[in-house]
Amino acid sequence: MHPTDHDDQEHTMTSTFSRTEPGASAAALAELLSTIDDWSVDGDELLRVRSDRSGWLVEGLPEVVIRVTSADEVSRVLAFATLHRIPVVTRGAGTGLSGGASAGEGSIVLDVSSLNRIHQIDPENQIAIVGPGVITADLDRAAAAHGLRYAPDPASAAISSIGGNIATNAGGLRGAKYGVTRDAVLALTVVLADGRILRTGRQTIKGVTGYDLTSLIVGSEGTLGVVVEATVRLQPVPVETQTVVAFFDTVVDAAAAATAIGLARLQPSLLELMDGPTLHAVDDAQGTDYHRRGTAFLVAQTDGFGASAEIERITAVLRRGAREVTRALDPIEAEELVRARRLALPSIETRGRVLIEDVVVPRTRLAEAFLGIQQIAQESGVQVFVIAHAADGNLHPIILLAAEEPSEREWHVAGLIFELALRLGGTLTGEHGVGLLKQRWVRGELGETGSAVHAGIKSLFDPAGILNPGKSF
Ligand SMILES: Cc1cc2nc3c(=O)[nH]c(=O)nc-3n(C[C@H](O)[C@H](O)[C@H](O)COP(=O)(O)OP(=O)(O)OC[C@H]3O[C@@H](n4cnc5c(N)ncnc54)[C@H](O)[C@@H]3O)c2cc1C
Repeated sequence: MHPTDHDDQEHTMTSTFSRTEPGASAAALAELLSTIDDWSVDGDELLRVRSDRSGWLVEGLPEVVIRVTSADEVSRVLAFATLHRIPVVTRGAGTGLSGGASAGEGSIVLDVSSLNRIHQIDPENQIAIVGPGVITADLDRAAAAHGLRYAPDPASAAISSIGGNIATNAGGLRGAKYGVTRDAVLALTVVLADGRILRTGRQTIKGVTGYDLTSLIVGSEGTLGVVVEATVRLQPVPVETQTVVAFFDTVVDAAAAATAIGLARLQPSLLELMDGPTLHAVDDAQGTDYHRRGTAFLVAQTDGFGASAEIERITAVLRRGAREVTRALDPIEAEELVRARRLALPSIETRGRVLIEDVVVPRTRLAEAFLGIQQIAQESGVQVFVIAHAADGNLHPIILLAAEEPSEREWHVAGLIFELALRLGGTLTGEHGVGLLKQRWVRGELGETGSAVHAGIKSLFDPAGILNPGKSF
């Protein structure tokens, strides 16, 4: 998917950051900044970094943006912020969709995008050591020179950073077979809120000494520490890829077919579903005519040495319920089909402002989830487009907004979708994170004991509560 411009979307949340103490005096802050190479208090710059691609805002403007150039600088800034109780919001590439990098009144925006060196690619051990500011697609490209790739491929790979991907546990289309960011991270260097450096994990593929702090940091959304270096796994580029697309009479049939592929013990490397409204949006924006071939679209890929045999089996499963099944004849046709899916979100966005949601259900309940969302949309009169990483049960219901801000009715629809996902045994967010957006629902999923344990972990890592305040779990 090509990056789209969400910058004009701005939504204000009522929560504000608050210092628990008066904060640093101007003199103390000036003293800190005198030791930092690159920072800005320019108004336009502060406006730029106060939100991410979601457009979600907290009240007020940040105090300063510090573009760190070393782990040592990160350490000094955090120690200072803890001492003076100043909120710190870590910022990667700012492409988040949940307001995770939104920064409010009096905060320091810690921009880590300049820590963007690929320190090492070790092709023999199939690992890379990178700074957090490395753009995801750049790592993938660098690995390709060795016949390897960085498997996690969020649709934002060309514009998002490895550090942001780690903080949100980003997923992508290849997740069907290769998992999400967490599955690719072996070790991290993290600066803690008080400035100490924590090293988690190891450079080996296996290892179990101590608690799994690497996994704890992955997906912690900048609330536990700042990732300043990561060791990640690389995978061989598959020798062969095969692609098939199927069109169905109903989206529920398509979802059932996606589930049937898993039940047949087949392992696609990509399995993406688009519903009817999305197909129309893609056709209108891209000049294609997919909606004439069916009401729902499912594209599957297989890869590796058994790709041809496996795609045959998947094709047979799809033929049981589809109106039309077509194998891609060559890589160009395959790319065209996958491109239609990648362009789904930008195509929908040509219709107006959207609220992009991100829930997960067990794979066997995908059809129920689609049916439930359809009912919610019909009963509420709100238009909802749905695309899904079908192999993971990860649905993106995209709510078309009637105005600049989501109305109470549209929030209500989002809430009903979250409740549906939880009722089906699922979760509130598969890859975009809680951020600001899902604060009001998160405790419902974690439960009382779960929330208490989260609070305990937070206070251990960040006793002064400076890291991404207002966005903890
Ligand atoms: C067009 C488009 C398509 C997208 N497609 C996908 C997709 O397919 N899959 C998916 O998962 N997401 C997707 N996203 C969402 C977004 O790209 C991801 O959430 C991405 O991981 C954010 O990375 P970033 O570098 O932009 O992080 P930011 O937006 O800058 O920050 C995200 C969060 O991470 C924290 N953070 C950033 N860097 C660090 C660090 N070094 N240490 C600690 N915390 C840090 C921030 O505080 C914030 O909470 C998409 C976004 C867009 C605009």
